[in-house]
Amino acid sequence: MKKSKPASRSHTSDQSKGIDTPIQFCPGVGPKRGQLFRKLGVETIRDLLWLLPRGYEDFHTVTPAAGLCPGEVATVLGTVQRVSERRPYSRGKVRHILRAEIDDQTGSLLAVWFNQPFLTSTVRTGARLRLHGKVELYDHMIQLTSPKVQSADDEDDNTQGLAPLYPLCEGLRQGNVRKAVQNALDRYGSFCVEFLPDTILQHNRFPSRFETFRILHAPKPGEGAPSDIPISEESLLQSIDGREVIQPFLLRSNESESLWERARKRLVYEEFLLHQFIFCRYRGRVKREPGIAHPLPVPDPLATDTTVSLSASGPQEWPAVFLRNLPFQLTPSQREVCRELQEDLHNPSPMNRLLQGDVGSGKTVVSVYAMLVAAAGGRQAALMAPTEILARQHAANIQRMTETLPGLNSVLLTGGAKTAERREALSLIDSGASQIVIGTHALFQESVTFHNLGMVVVDEQHKFGVSQRQRLIDKGLHPDLLVSTATPIPRTLSLTWYGDMDVSTIRDLPPGRPPLITRWTTWENGTKLWKFVDEKIEEGQQAYVVCPIIEPSENMPQLPSTEQAFDALSKTFLPHRRVEILHGRHSTEVKTDLMSRMREGAVDVVVATTVIEVGVDLPNATMMVVLGAERFGLAQLHQLRGRVGRGTKKSYCVLITHNRIPPFAQDRMRILERTRDGFEIAEEDCRMRGPGEYFGTRQTGHLNFRLADPIHDSDLLKDANLAATALYEDDPDLTRPQHSLLKEEIRLAYGRHDFNRPS
Ligand code: ADP
Ligand code: MG
Repeated sequence: MKKSKPASRSHTSDQSKGIDTPIQFCPGVGPKRGQLFRKLGVETIRDLLWLLPRGYEDFHTVTPAAGLCPGEVATVLGTVQRVSERRPYSRGKVRHILRAEIDDQTGSLLAVWFNQPFLTSTVRTGARLRLHGKVELYDHMIQLTSPKVQSADDEDDNTQGLAPLYPLCEGLRQGNVRKAVQNALDRYGSFCVEFLPDTILQHNRFPSRFETFRILHAPKPGEGAPSDIPISEESLLQSIDGREVIQPFLLRSNESESLWERARKRLVYEEFLLHQFIFCRYRGRVKREPGIAHPLPVPDPLATDTTVSLSASGPQEWPAVFLRNLPFQLTPSQREVCRELQEDLHNPSPMNRLLQGDVGSGKTVVSVYAMLVAAAGGRQAALMAPTEILARQHAANIQRMTETLPGLNSVLLTGGAKTAERREALSLIDSGASQIVIGTHALFQESVTFHNLGMVVVDEQHKFGVSQRQRLIDKGLHPDLLVSTATPIPRTLSLTWYGDMDVSTIRDLPPGRPPLITRWTTWENGTKLWKFVDEKIEEGQQAYVVCPIIEPSENMPQLPSTEQAFDALSKTFLPHRRVEILHGRHSTEVKTDLMSRMREGAVDVVVATTVIEVGVDLPNATMMVVLGAERFGLAQLHQLRGRVGRGTKKSYCVLITHNRIPPFAQDRMRILERTRDGFEIAEEDCRMRGPGEYFGTRQTGHLNFRLADPIHDSDLLKDANLAATALYEDDPDLTRPQHSLLKEEIRLAYGRHDFNRPS
């Protein structure tokens, strides 16, 4: 009696935590196995319920023993007649052999297992078993070799059907997980409280929360669980490598409206709903912050019918004169985006906007226009670029584009600035004498103070961390923020990825873009290729040659390096041309110097790693040769080739790979040959790699869905987005009693901090 007391006490304390009870308290788990579950990312009962099967085994469709055919996979339901155990004395691999003779009404068969001594407790004489495995012929007898076993003793007919297949780790067997999940459902099921509002449940015909987990873990026959997807044992073990434990539940039922499918959809929807609600709150909060209402330029520079003089008489005319003096017309989408930005700037709440557009779509002009609107209204605007080369290029372009604007002053601040230069720049920024400030990371250093920073542009924003961006923003008082990216967000993803921002998109490329021809070839065609490059150089054009690594690698001798390529080109293929080398180990000065000599036409070929930044704009570079192209991702290759085809001449991108590369790499090459549309490529890339890998680490918000997949479940995402928006409008802080459980669920998923600040 005494002994049972502590046990019962721990029992009550574990129950009080409901489904957040630590995993070791789950009946059938205990401290030792608890450690194994932790390896699978399962800390609590809740996590265990979320440890969804990767598939199901059909133990349900039974074949009579008399009807078994060798070679097929079948399930047999029968009674054990005889059991024999043997422990061969040998140093071989087989230490234990268990044999059983099984009968059903129609006949008998043998079953045999190697090295699974633990099965002796299940495979007992007289036990009724379900056996599932491959049928073989052995000594003229039908035999199942190492079949899966399930006890059928306490089955009421047909209740047991599909057996879930869980991810496993060393030491944890399928049976252990099944038992634990079953116990968790039995014991903690009542703690799975419903938190979705009734209207949502009914409208979508979702099963209740408990029923959802029950259906996914223990589907009954006829509920539509997919059991025909082959799942290998290794894949169950492989699916868990450290971090990426709970992978998307990729199964999908064919019967789209089956109970099982509704249960799956419910979990996906749940994840989307919570996530979208957080975004609604975030956006709502930003909108309510006091921001700057920049005055609109008058007359409206974007109106097509206004006539503007060639020179400005005052700051309010800067944006209009700027547009007027551009050597080209804005494309329709540039114009549209300029209008969006202008309206956002004028709006008193802070702008929080993403500008996306393919490489070369002309994002810079649009950003500069917005900065000029801010400057015309008497504020400073800052443009931050990820590298010194880009910052210099922007500064030079802006200087050129704004020459004709009297009173407008721009300044460049980078880490490489000399002391005197730097002191001068700092004072121009601090006094407000420079309305436009361009720079690198140097911009958010402590020593920089702005006179009245009213707008921030972050170019190629994924190169900056959120906190770096924030440090620059904090130098103003709720300045408007525009971040730009040349990695387009597939439409299907923008709700989840940038749901916390407004998005402007430049869809069309400027007219008169020269054709860019992309060809994929292998090493064998090298000689021909360099001859072609030589001819183009003769015509006065320039080439980039990109390699995946700097120096030859011992481990991967086939990988082309810049050193090898440089040697081969300067000695063998193009000895009479001016070939130079550039990589990440070179200093900024060397890089900048090379870029400017390239611009002057003093260099013919640059052999480089991927250091030639996105956005570098050298119109005379018409050729890009990527060696070892299979080593680069789709989006990356697309970015790389964006560095050519920027001038007026026909351009070429040649992708060189080994002659034997895996099919997925071949697909990448073919997609690049086929299309130049960055949005299409983004969709493909996302589809091929999955959204997580496509973007690398997430920078704002959260995107650690356990099950939801924004691409495949985009309809659910749209529904959840609408529902979240409605919910937010109705009850932004979720203070209504019927929303309290939902609020708790959001807190659990996204941390407390979000509800601390009032919405
Ligand atoms: P990205 O979007 O990659 O930053 P940029 O802003 O650098 O592209 O623009 C690429 C090139 O296209 C620049 O040389 C720019 O002057 C030019 N450009 C931008 N808009 C237009 C347009 N509407 N018509 C013609 N050329 C344009
Ligand atoms: Mg750019």
